[in-house]
Amino acid sequence: MANYTVTLIPGDGIGPEITQAMCRVVDATGVDITWEVADAGAKLMEEYGTPLPDYVIESIKKNKVAIKGPVTTPVGVGFRSVNVALRKALDLYVNLRPVYSIPGTGARYEGVDIILVRENTEDLYAGVEFEEGSADALELIAFCEAKGAGTIRKDSGISLKPISITGSERIVHYAFEYALEHNRKKVTAVHKANILKFSDGLFLRVAREVAAKYEGRVDFEDKIVDATCMGLVLDPGNWDVVVLPNLYGDIVSDLCAGLVGGLGIAPGANIGKDYAIFEPVHGSAPSHAGKDEANPTAEILSAVLMLQHLGEKEAAERILKAVREVLAEGEYVTYDIKRTNTGSTEGCVGTQAYADAIIAKL
Ligand code: NAD
Repeated sequence: MANYTVTLIPGDGIGPEITQAMCRVVDATGVDITWEVADAGAKLMEEYGTPLPDYVIESIKKNKVAIKGPVTTPVGVGFRSVNVALRKALDLYVNLRPVYSIPGTGARYEGVDIILVRENTEDLYAGVEFEEGSADALELIAFCEAKGAGTIRKDSGISLKPISITGSERIVHYAFEYALEHNRKKVTAVHKANILKFSDGLFLRVAREVAAKYEGRVDFEDKIVDATCMGLVLDPGNWDVVVLPNLYGDIVSDLCAGLVGGLGIAPGANIGKDYAIFEPVHGSAPSHAGKDEANPTAEILSAVLMLQHLGEKEAAERILKAVREVLAEGEYVTYDIKRTNTGSTEGCVGTQAYADAIIAKL
C-alpha cells in the first residue's frame, strides 16, 4: 500500500481541534499517511517574526500535498494573509470549492451540486495597494488625472485589480477540463464586464475564446456577478461548474456555503501545477477555539478532496458516506447543526465525539 507524507498546518483558532479530528478520521480509513506538522499562523509571529516561516513552504515543496486549518488574518492591519501568501508562493492558481447538499444539515435547499472554480492569484488579491496619503498613492492619483483616466479623491487608499490573459486562460481552461473529466454539462463564467471593461472584460473575452475550444462537448454561458447571486439564491439547482475571478469567487463561495448549510461544512482546495493545499472555506472562528465545539465537517470534507487528489478514491468515498450517515441521523452532531435542525443546541456533541461517530461508520 502506498505511503504518503502530507504537510499538516493546524493553524489558528479552531484549526488545531478540527485538524486533529480530520487526521483521526483519515487515519481510521487505513490510508497510510505520515503527517508532517509545519504550523503557520498568527501565533508564530512572536517566535519567528512572521506568520509563515520558511519551513512551511519548504515542507510543502517537498511533500507536494498539504492540508491546513484556518489561519487568522487581522483586518486592515499587520501582516497580509498567510493563505494569500501560500497561494502566491506555490502558484496555486485554482481554488476549487465543491458545494453539494448533505441531508441533515438543515440547509434551505436540497439537490445543490455546484463546482466553484475561483481564480486564486490575481484580481484585487494581487496585493498591489497604495496607502491613503502616501507619496506613492498621491503620485498614482496625479498620474491618473494627467492621463485623463479619471479623478480620484486625494484622501483615497488604492488597491489595484489586475486581471491577465495568462491568469484567465488557465483558470477557465481548468474549469472546462474539470467539467469534461467529471461529466459536467455546463461552465458559467461570472464577471462584471459591463462596468470593468479592461479587467473583467478581458476575463470574459478570454473565457469565450477558451469555451470555443470545447464547443459541442461542454456548454458555456456568462453571467454578471450580481445576477449570479440572485440566480443562485432563487434556483441553486440550475448551476453546474462556475468559474470566477478571485474576489467574486471568494464572496460567491460563502453565499453558496450558505445554500447548503453554512461554513461549517464547506470544503476547498488550492491547486497548482505542482502542489496542492486543502482547507475549509471557513476561518479560524476564534470565539469557538479551545472548546471542543467547532464543526470539523468542512475540514474532513477537505480531506476527502485530498484523498481523491492522491488517488485514494475508495477511502474518500467511505468518509463521505460516513459523514452523510452521521448528519442524516442527526444524533451525534455539533452545536451549529443541532441548532439549525432543532432551534436549540441541546444534545449536541463536541468536535472529537462527532469525529468518533464518523469513525464508527467507516
Ligand atoms: P469564520 O469563518 O472564522 O467565522 C464566522 C462564523 O462562522 C463564526 O463565528 C462561527 O459562528 C461560524 N463558523 C465558522 N466555522 C465554523 C465551524 N467549523 N464550526 C462551527 N461554526 C463555524 O470567519 P471570520 O470570523 O470572519 O474570520 C475569523 C478569522 O479567520 C479572520 O482572521 C479571517 O481572516 C480568518 N479566515 C481564515 C481563512 C483561512 O485560513 N482559509 C478563511 C476565512 C477567514
